[in-house]
Amino acid sequence: MTPTTADDTSFARLAELTQRLEATTKRLEKRALLAAFLRSLRRDEVAPAVHLIVGRIFAESDARALNVGWATLKKALGGTKQASLVARSLSILGVSQTFAQIAEARGPDSTRARRRLLESLLGRASSGERDVLLKNVFGEMRIGVNEGVMLEGIADASGVDLDTVRTAHMFLGDLGMIAEIALFEGADGLHVRGLRLLAPMKPMLAEMAEDLDEVLAVHGGMTAIEYKLDGARIQIHRKGDAVKIFSRRLSDVTSSLPELVAIAKGLPASEFLLEGEVVAVDRDGKPLPFQDLMRRFRRVHGIESAQEEIPLKLYLFDVLHLDGRTLIDEPYRVRWEILERLVPPNLLTARRVAQHKEEIEAFLKEALVAGHEGLMAKQLESTYSVGKRGKKWFKIKPADHLDLAITAAEWGSGRREGWLSNYWLAVRDDKSGAFQMIGKTFKGLTDEEFKAMTERLRGLATSEERWGFHVRPETVVEVAYNEIQRSPHYPSGFALRFARIVRIRDDKGPQDVDTYERLKDLYAKQFERKGRGPDDL
Ligand code: AMP
Repeated sequence: MTPTTADDTSFARLAELTQRLEATTKRLEKRALLAAFLRSLRRDEVAPAVHLIVGRIFAESDARALNVGWATLKKALGGTKQASLVARSLSILGVSQTFAQIAEARGPDSTRARRRLLESLLGRASSGERDVLLKNVFGEMRIGVNEGVMLEGIADASGVDLDTVRTAHMFLGDLGMIAEIALFEGADGLHVRGLRLLAPMKPMLAEMAEDLDEVLAVHGGMTAIEYKLDGARIQIHRKGDAVKIFSRRLSDVTSSLPELVAIAKGLPASEFLLEGEVVAVDRDGKPLPFQDLMRRFRRVHGIESAQEEIPLKLYLFDVLHLDGRTLIDEPYRVRWEILERLVPPNLLTARRVAQHKEEIEAFLKEALVAGHEGLMAKQLESTYSVGKRGKKWFKIKPADHLDLAITAAEWGSGRREGWLSNYWLAVRDDKSGAFQMIGKTFKGLTDEEFKAMTERLRGLATSEERWGFHVRPETVVEVAYNEIQRSPHYPSGFALRFARIVRIRDDKGPQDVDTYERLKDLYAKQFERKGRGPDDL
């Protein structure tokens, strides 16, 4: 371990800061505490400190992981008594360097080496410091310093305006580096680090469309629709002979994907940044399950045989830089034209421009038949918003259905006045038999059905409230929804996005209601596709 020198900032000060951050819920106070702390650091201490405060140890784009499991940690905690005899204080830099050594330990003896390094840290830590170390080990520094507050703290500490700091973060994907540059080079330093080739950039994200009318209305009556491919998003950078490929989470995956490197080197330009989706396919070119693609992404050895086992197909859909020219501020319409000129048609994502619902429906059907997930709808005049989710890009996927019980009903207002028309929807917990609420809806029924439903639910009432009735869960409805989300509002922990009733299932009773288990399964599958995999690399 590097010896601590007198002017190194002690780790104890960082631990004390995290305690003070934890003690307040006021955002402004957190900002001020962070700003004062950051300002007190030496340049080389800033990035490591920022990573330790947010509990991540390494930058977001850094693929290193500690590889410390429970067993190692338990042993290290047990072995710390001895170590404390050589008590010396920890510094921020020392802690950061030791974590790096733990992550880099290789070979047959690496588990022991990791344990010893961890022991040396824990043994020299006070109890407050231990807290911070352990939370970092488990990546769950829940002291209320998320990325957002940290960015504000960095802005305050450096006097650089928050927008500039946020934008720079989208491009660099590294909070520590942002803090260091903001503090020591100011806004100028951050500006020149806009889009950089061979360095990852946070991708633009899409919002779930409620329905096709919304898509056309928001996009001004015309939209470009592309297949939504069920693969992994990648950005391909080329600068002369150098090619780098990054995943959605900004990890460098170049070495696992040599065939894509070859494609990039074959394109007729010397500098570019392309975005696309890579899909695993079988020998006939049909998409393979997502898991197969993940195997390719994780592969670091035997790449050649992997290439044969699981061939990849690349579909490009955007170009953000070409031969010295940054294109993120160009309209998507123009970027697509440039892309079309640069790459052969077989590398382009299937796309067309649509003005009518029927065209979108037909193209969606085509995409699903070809084994893809749905469509993306992109506003033709939109610029590329690095790292942002918004309605300039919509995802369009076929709705899923669940059979749910109505457990309560609220009186409607306006046109639905006098009817019980807003229904609480629940799945059944197979273990306890209880019904778990996962959403509400007033959509999908005709006026006649509302009337009949009002009578029926009154008859099932178990208690009256100011807003309506709780009812026996005997009415089953088939509900369409676009996505399952995590939700703090319901004890079930889940909520349906854009729920609407498709049908009243008079043929079904409470026993036929979909279960909580099934809901959790569906969520896990959805998560696996969008949140995991390449994102975790
Ligand atoms: P989601 O992960 O459900 O939020 O959907 C967004 C993801 O869809 C993107 O991050 C891409 O990985 C993927 N995707 C598939 N096809 C396209 C496309 N044509 N344009 C943009 N993203 C796409």
